[in-house]
Amino acid sequence: MLNFYFDTETDSHKSFELPGARPHYNPDRPGQVEHIFLDLVLDIPNQSFQGTCTLHLNPVRSGIETLTLDAINLDIQAVKIEENQQEFEYDGEQLQIHLHQPTVANQLIKLVITYAVTHPQRGLYFISPNKDYPNKPIQVWTQGEDEDSRFWFPCFDYPGQLATSEIRVQVPKQYLAISNGDLIQTETKGKTKIYHWSQKQIHPTYLMTLAVGDFAEIKDEWKGIPVLYYVEKNRKDDALRSMGKTPQMIEFFSEYFGYSYPYPKYAQVCVDDFIFGGMENTSTTLLTDRCLLDERATLDNRNTESLVAHELAHQWFGDLVVIKHWSHAWIKEGMATYSEVLWTEQHYGKEEAAYYRLNQAKNYFSEDSSRYRRPIVTHIYREAIELYDRHLYEKGACVYHLIRTELGDELFQKAIQTFVQDNAHKTVETIDLLRALEKATGCNLMPLFDQYVFRGGHPEYKVSYSWDNHSKLAKITIKQNQAKESDKLSEKNLFDLKIPIGFGYKPDKKSPETAVKFKTFTVRVHEREQTFYFPLEEKPNFISFDVNNNILKTVKLDYAVAELKAQLQYDPDPISRIYAAKSLAQKGGLEAVRALSHALKNDKFWGVRVEVAKQLVRVKLNQVFEGLVAGLTDDDPRVRRAVVHSLATLKTTESYQVLKPLLEKGDPSYLVEAALATGLGEIAATHCEDKHLVEQTIKQLKSVLKEREGWNEVVRSGAISGLSKMKISEDALNLILKYTTPGIPQALRLTSIRALGTISTGQTPTNIERILQRLEELSNETFFLTQVAVVASLEQMETPKAMAILQSLADQTLDGRVRRRAEEAIQNVQGKIGSEPALKKLREELDKIKKENQELRSRLETLEAKSKTTKPDKG
Ligand SMILES: [Zn+2]
Repeated sequence: MLNFYFDTETDSHKSFELPGARPHYNPDRPGQVEHIFLDLVLDIPNQSFQGTCTLHLNPVRSGIETLTLDAINLDIQAVKIEENQQEFEYDGEQLQIHLHQPTVANQLIKLVITYAVTHPQRGLYFISPNKDYPNKPIQVWTQGEDEDSRFWFPCFDYPGQLATSEIRVQVPKQYLAISNGDLIQTETKGKTKIYHWSQKQIHPTYLMTLAVGDFAEIKDEWKGIPVLYYVEKNRKDDALRSMGKTPQMIEFFSEYFGYSYPYPKYAQVCVDDFIFGGMENTSTTLLTDRCLLDERATLDNRNTESLVAHELAHQWFGDLVVIKHWSHAWIKEGMATYSEVLWTEQHYGKEEAAYYRLNQAKNYFSEDSSRYRRPIVTHIYREAIELYDRHLYEKGACVYHLIRTELGDELFQKAIQTFVQDNAHKTVETIDLLRALEKATGCNLMPLFDQYVFRGGHPEYKVSYSWDNHSKLAKITIKQNQAKESDKLSEKNLFDLKIPIGFGYKPDKKSPETAVKFKTFTVRVHEREQTFYFPLEEKPNFISFDVNNNILKTVKLDYAVAELKAQLQYDPDPISRIYAAKSLAQKGGLEAVRALSHALKNDKFWGVRVEVAKQLVRVKLNQVFEGLVAGLTDDDPRVRRAVVHSLATLKTTESYQVLKPLLEKGDPSYLVEAALATGLGEIAATHCEDKHLVEQTIKQLKSVLKEREGWNEVVRSGAISGLSKMKISEDALNLILKYTTPGIPQALRLTSIRALGTISTGQTPTNIERILQRLEELSNETFFLTQVAVVASLEQMETPKAMAILQSLADQTLDGRVRRRAEEAIQNVQGKIGSEPALKKLREELDKIKKENQELRSRLETLEAKSKTTKPDKG
């Protein structure tokens, strides 16, 4: 939640670099690994395997006596070259092989390492049923990125080494085993089956994979290349619904990247308890099975389609063109994320793509303002996985869009194609992208990279406009608010960009069918404050700053209500309309409410209606209620959801009366139902003096929990979130606690764990103790998502004990993402404890005053509106 009252505008961002961060480099290279062959025998019941790993190494020079491989917690049994045993030392992290004979440059050596692994902690995961989850499938799957392959085989585990690979694996006969490349042989041996896979195109160790399970195989194809979907057998119907556009996407990306899909097959395997959304292993992507959609979920879920596009795009950006070092991971993650935009544009049109891009930018802005600011490219960190954040993905995507904007569509595509073609089957750094861009277009994009890639931040513009009717001049003043006057070094925070400014003229009243006319000027904006004067024949109806909104920026529009209203109604760019809505809401007043209500009803693009619903509720006038209610019948479930959310934010009993029957009746969309359940809880919580209302709400949410199981437990999770808002209710807490116990479906349980933190802040000391106790128990579970939920929960608490649990979780977890989150959470809890309780009281008082003011103003606006309509129009 944003705290508008106590925000202090400041330049200081938290540091990305946590204590212990240091520069990271690729290691020296003893030679080129040309081939990796793993031969494994899985013992699934005992969660172990026996294997040999054969590495073909071509030494780069003569005289190397020791090779150092990454290998964590493996049981190394022997190391041989030919038939000769080699001496080795092993400390559980690195395997040092003392070569019998020193290397001779370019004389290939074949290292054969015999080893075993029992209960691997990372890298390779055994999934099996247990007493709490007896229906869990038996599966084995791997996750290498970023540096976890070393947990399941010894290797030079960094992306700078590319090799061909082979995996031969023996599994119980009933299971399928899927891996990179071609299946070159299968063999049945008693109760077991051997699958032999071969990947003939070179790739890094982190993309080697294996997935084993009792999967259904659904076959599709693209130009004769098999496209395969693997899911648990009872999810067969969901497979095509969720991944069925893959061949179309392969066609699109092959074309767009100017390089035909490079591998002999494309498989997607949906696995249980996956610790990422998806992983682009070469030719064999693994996806979380939570992405599988049932029919109802397809109504308003586009995440799965985006996930499929993202991982597929990596087959080019990441797998074919490989990053040399994690510090340059934005090249692949930025492009895979931008590919979601490209696919959206191609498949759903420009408006959808623009809105998709805006939401990506917002994700980045949120990290930038609430967590830290960093350059996209940096090699200073504790663990590489820390880099996998919103800067890498979403800001990276926005940078690709900036490049496209600077070059234009045609040259951008040409440059991207040059980059892919020149670097296929090679490793790259950011400089290689710059060089390809220059080679293909002649343009030096270093200035852009300097501003957006090699340093943190983005421009934060404030734009003001006025019209001088006498001289027919439009005056536009642009400020770069991210660069503060007081900051002596602020020059370095300025951006130097060319920005198109459009003056819009709405269609003639006589021929409303004609298009909006624009007069556009492009100006260079590079100072802290600049004023421009534009001669125009006629006063424009509205101003479109950064026409089409291609620049990654935030912007405050300081225009008069008339211009904002006209922009909201007529600007053809949906993002401009959204900015206009936001500025209108900031202005407030009845006129703004009317314009926004009109847009919520009439804007033809659902994304604008969603944003308008969010803005409308920010105007503190009672009249917004009516405007919002009209949106409840919107055809698009995404709009209905936003409207429900806003009505809940109003927190009035009128909203409650409107939403309650809707939850009873149900909605075609899971997400809308979830929002209704959460919203009712939220409203009831603010009327805690009304015992009846609270009891009635808990009863209703309880029945939702009983009756509305379904896809990924979305609706029931909504009910839990609703309960979590009722912070002083012990009944609500007891219900939530019940749903945190083992055996509860995972998605619902994770929401319940998070909800414990939310509800904690209103509970009695005894109940806070109960919550802490449960969270402490839960913090001992090793599953990644459980740990993330525990951290998120503790982070919301306001007690030193929460910090202690977070600290021990940070110390014990094997996941770098959890470690980082836990440490950030400790800082946040500390911050909150520091500001207790005087600030809290002040905040409550302010809330009260605001509410009283709102009532007064609402009455005043109504009176004024009435008196206005009776006056003659002055023209
Ligand atoms: Zn990715």
